[in-house]
Parts: sequence; structure tokens; C-alpha cells
Amino acid sequence: MASVNRDTIYALSSGRPPAAIAVVRISGPRSRVALEGLIGRVPEPRKAALARVRDRATGELIDEALALWFPGPHSETGEDTAELQLHGGRAVIAAVLAALGRLDGFRLAEPGEFTRRAFENGRLDLTQVEALADLVFAETQAQRRQAFQQLRGLLSDRAEAWRRQIIEAQALVEAGIDFSDEPDVPKNLVTRAMEIVRPLTAEITQVLAGAERGERLREGLWVAITGPPNAGKSTLLNRIARREAAIVSPYAGTTRDVIEVHLDLDGYPVNLLDTAGICESAEDPVEREGMRRAREAASRADLVLWLVDAGAANALNESRAADEPIAPGAARWIVVNKVDLISEEGAPKLQAKFADRKDVYYVSAATGAGVDDLVASTARLAERIFTTDSALVTRQRQQTALAEVREALAGAMSLAKEVAGEELIAEQLRRAAIGLGRLTGRVDVEEILDVIFRDFCVGK
Ligand code: GDP
Repeated sequence: MASVNRDTIYALSSGRPPAAIAVVRISGPRSRVALEGLIGRVPEPRKAALARVRDRATGELIDEALALWFPGPHSETGEDTAELQLHGGRAVIAAVLAALGRLDGFRLAEPGEFTRRAFENGRLDLTQVEALADLVFAETQAQRRQAFQQLRGLLSDRAEAWRRQIIEAQALVEAGIDFSDEPDVPKNLVTRAMEIVRPLTAEITQVLAGAERGERLREGLWVAITGPPNAGKSTLLNRIARREAAIVSPYAGTTRDVIEVHLDLDGYPVNLLDTAGICESAEDPVEREGMRRAREAASRADLVLWLVDAGAANALNESRAADEPIAPGAARWIVVNKVDLISEEGAPKLQAKFADRKDVYYVSAATGAGVDDLVASTARLAERIFTTDSALVTRQRQQTALAEVREALAGAMSLAKEVAGEELIAEQLRRAAIGLGRLTGRVDVEEILDVIFRDFCVGK
């Protein structure tokens, strides 16, 4: 909890300099001292003030800046905080940070420390802290939407409502314990408690069902391009990514590692993997390791694009493609590449070969023909998987905590059915309440805090 003898922390909160503007944030009990020292006064709360920034030690004028003062507890961290919007040059920032460092009781913030203080002061719960990290890392609009809704309390508010319901049920059951001399009263109270618990359990089960989707959206859809060497996998990836992410070479087997590009397809995050060519004859250990990684990537992908060379399609042993393991529920499409090499007479013959398969795309990675179609289908698949409404649960940690709540509630229900003692039922409900506390970070979370804040940048 906040204490007056806490360090006052400061950091550059904006991006890498040089930039037009740099934001330096200060939080802690001596934030006021920082403003007095650097700009000679404390501006009106929450109003930007133009100020000259001076190094008090040397008296030198460093910069002219906008200064803001947010007295606690109604600040982002819950403590007194100050913000300086400086010119974003390296030397300006260095001088201001050095001047702050010379003040007594001040130190540079650790990664995520501002947010950690906000959490400790009850300004954010743990699901909101996680959402903040997701918002900063969001690359697509669907990811941003999900993170932002969670930051605004989509999950916290629900958790709070659930907690209230559990406490109500708990109170009913515990009241029954006090009336254990009158056999009918406890039974009726337990029945009433279960009228709360039953729909609540169903609701949590439904939320848990969407959990996988939430996590998936954070990560993005995984698409692996696989197929024999020289089919044009790297060329296709480059064509889709519209940049030189993979090495294209006329020699077989050059992509030995897995190359990954992140795409934004209609707002949905898609990770596209270019994998080493898969061919039975590989003997070189490096090549074999590449194949192993390729198979592994494909086995975890949501969509596998099995690429074949249209010219070599005669030699195509289609069953081979079907033999490669893919994840349960994943899709596999056949992409016939290099159609630019096929003559007009050859085209119908080629198509006849794949007539019995639905998911076949004909493209030329070299000319780009057919690639838009393939990308559009991938975007549609992403849309189908992610849907437009945000999932409530977005992380494994949240899922684990919520599963524990559900298990305890289900336990309470089956005990009630067995007409077990009220104490046992109350104990299960207490467990459920603790699980919810863990979800929002109000109950024994010390050990996981470090893990969560480690992923933050300094200044956040
Ligand atoms: P990978 O081993 O599957 O990654 O194949 P590459 O992308 O390295 O391509 C192998 C060779 O095929 C290179 O010489 C490419 O220029 C060529 N290639 C790839 N796609 C096409 C295509 O659509 N048409 C033609 N004509 N050549 C292509």
C-alpha cells in the first residue's frame, strides 16, 4: 500500500528519442518537490502550464515545456504525479532526468512501476493491468478493441457482480448454520442460495467457453505456409507481406528456419510463417532440423497453406499433404503456385486434378495473380474465428482463476443436492469468492505480480 516514505519515481514515458515531444512522468510523495525544483512552482491541478525547466544545481535553463500537476489520489497512479512535455531530443531528456536524479528521494522507475502503483492504490485491478499491457502491444483494431474494453472494466465489472452474488449465497447458507436447530430453515436457505449459484455457474461456464477466442485474438491467427522445396513459399510470403521478409532464392531448401511476419488483415492479427521445404529426401542435418521446425509450426497453426508448384503438380502426391499432421480444428488449403507458367490449354487439366477438393487456390506468387483472393479468404477465416464481439477472458491466468470459481460453485451445487452440511457448502462458496479475488488481484497474487509487470516498458 502507498506510504509516505516511498520513493518518488520518474521515467521517460514516451517513445524512443529523438521525437517532437518527450513526456517525463513523475509519481510519488515528492512529485511536488520535483515541480518546485525544476520549474519553480506547482501549476493548477490538471491544467497545462507553460514553464521554463531549470537544473537547480547549475541554474541552467534546460528547456521550455508544458507542465502538468495531478494531485493524488485522483491521479493515474493514485499518488501525486507530475508530467513534463519537453522537446523530444536526447540531450534535453538526459538533462531533465539527471536533474531529477539529483533530487533527494527520487529514482528512475522500474518497468511497469507506474502501473504497479496504480494497482496497489486500487486505481486498476489486475485484469485492467493486463488489458493495459495488451493495449500498448495491440497491433490491429480487433486487438485494440478487446484490450480497451477490458481496460474499461468489461471483466472487472462482471467479476464484481459475480462476487456480490456469491457473497449473497454465502450469507444465506451461513444464516442456515445459525438455525441448525430448526431442520426446515437451513434447507430452505440452501435452496435459495442455489437459486443464485445455478445461473451464476451457467454464466461463468459461458464466459469460459469464449476464453480461447480471447487469448487467440491477443496472439493472432497462425498461418503456416508449407510444401515441398522450391514451390515458392518464400515468394508467396513476400508477396503477401509486400516486403522482403524471407530470402527468395532459385536454389532448393534455402529457408531452413521459420520466418514469421505479422499482418493486419481487416483488423485481425495474422502471423504468417514461411517454413522450410518438406521433402522426404533431405539428408543434411540442418535441412532436417528445418523440416522438423516446419512440421512443428504447421502442427500448431490455425491454417496450413500447402503450396505446390503447378508445373510439378503431376508429381504431386496429394495424400502426402493430407498426411502432415495439423492441429485439431485447423484448416488446410492447397495453394497451387506458379500458374503463370501454365499454358491456356494446361489450365483445365490442372484444375481437373484438384476437382474433388474444395479448398484449392490457384496463384502466382511471382505475378500476384490470385493472391488477393487467398488473402481475402484468410481474412474471412480470421473474422469467423475471432468474431466481432470481444471475449471477456483474454489470458490463461484469468481462465485458471475463473475455472477455479466454477469448480467451487459446481462443488457447492452437488453438496446441496446431497443435502450435505451447510458448513461444507459455505466452504465451497468461500473458495469461489477467493478465486474471484485472484482473478481481479485482490487475493494472494504477490508471486504473479512480478511476472505480469515484467512485460511492461519503463515509464508505464
Ligand atoms: P520455396 O523454397 O518454396 O520458399 O521457394 P522460393 O520462394 O524460394 O521460390 C523458388 C523459385 O521459384 C524461385 O526461383 C522463385 O523465383 C520461383 N517462383 C516462386 N513463385 C513463382 C511463381 O509464381 N511463378 C514463377 N514463374 N516462379 C516462381
